[in-house]
Amino acid sequence: MTTAVAAPFRFFSLQVVRTRRLGPSLVRVTFGGDDLQYFFSDGRDQSLSLFLPHPGQSEPQVPLEFGDGWWQGWRELPDDVRAVMRSYTLRALRRNPDEIDIDFVLHTPAGPASHWASRAAAGDRVLLLGPAIADNRAIRFRPADDTDLVVIWGDETAVPAVSAILESLPAGTRARVWLEVHDAGDIQDLETDADAEITWLVQEEAVSAIRAAQLPPANHPYVWIAGESGSVKALRRHFVQERGVDRRRVTFVGYWRQGLTEEQLRAQE
Ligand SMILES: Cc1cc2nc3c(=O)[nH]c(=O)nc-3n(C[C@H](O)[C@H](O)[C@H](O)COP(=O)(O)OP(=O)(O)OC[C@H]3O[C@@H](n4cnc5c(N)ncnc54)[C@H](O)[C@@H]3O)c2cc1C
Repeated sequence: MTTAVAAPFRFFSLQVVRTRRLGPSLVRVTFGGDDLQYFFSDGRDQSLSLFLPHPGQSEPQVPLEFGDGWWQGWRELPDDVRAVMRSYTLRALRRNPDEIDIDFVLHTPAGPASHWASRAAAGDRVLLLGPAIADNRAIRFRPADDTDLVVIWGDETAVPAVSAILESLPAGTRARVWLEVHDAGDIQDLETDADAEITWLVQEEAVSAIRAAQLPPANHPYVWIAGESGSVKALRRHFVQERGVDRRRVTFVGYWRQGLTEEQLRAQE
C-alpha cells in the first residue's frame, strides 16, 4: 500500500506587486499570484530558490513541462537563456490578499539578482521554488526545547531571516543578537516579544566585537550564524572552540562568499 505524501516544495509563478526601499542597500520586493494559496511556511529563516529572467527576457526560463526532470532540462539551457537561480529568505507571508515579501541586498558590483532587484517593477515575473508544507527542511533555525539562551549573528543578507526569527520567538526567550551592516541607514526597527538585546555593528569586525562581549550565563545556549562564508566559519570556530558551545547546538549557513557568485559557491560546497 502506498501513502500519498504531498511534495514539500513546488514552483510558484509570481509577479511583483510593489517595491519599497528600506535603506541605502536594502529593497523589499512584494510578490503576489494565485499560486500563493498553496504556499505555506512557519517562517523563521525559511529559505527559497528564486528564478529570475535575464535582462530583456519577459519571464524566467525553467522547463517546468519536464516535471521532475526540470533540473536537468534547466542545466542544459544556454547560460544566457537559463533563468538565474539565487537563494533568498521569506521575510513575510500575508493572506487576503496572498502576498510574500523578500528583502534584497543591493551590493556593488551587483550580481544578476541584485541588479534585478534594483530595477524590479510591478508586473515583473519570477518563479519561486518554495514550501508547500509549513514545517519544512528549508527552515534551519531549530533551537532544542531546553535552550536557555539564543545567540544570533547575521550580516545584511541575514537581516531578513533574523527579523523573522525575532518575530517568532516567544515572550521570555533570552536572546543576544548582533547584526552587521555597512551603512547605518540600513539599521531597522525589529519587533520581538523575546527578551532580546540587539547590537548593530556598522562596518565593525564581527569576530572581535563578539569575542569582547560578555554573554549572559546559560547551560544550553543555541547559536545561529549566517552571512558571508568567511565570517560564518570564523564565528562558528569562536563559539565552539573558544566559548565551548556544543557544536550540535550551532546552526551556521554561508549565505554568500566574497569574490564568488552563488553558482561558484555552490560548486565548492
Ligand atoms: C539560505 C540563503 C538565504 C539568503 N537570503 C538572502 C536574503 O534574504 N536577502 C539577500 O539579499 N541575500 C540573501 N542571501 C544571499 C544571496 O543569495 C547572495 O548574496 C547572492 O550571491 C546574491 O546574488 P547576486 O546575483 O546578486 O550576486 P552573485 O552573482 O551571486 O555574486 C556576484 C558578486 O557579488 C558578490 N556578492 C554577493 N552577495 C553580496 C553581498 N550581499 N554583499 C557584497 N557582495 C556580494 C559575490 O561575492 C560576487 O563577487 C541568501 C543566501 C542563502 C544561501
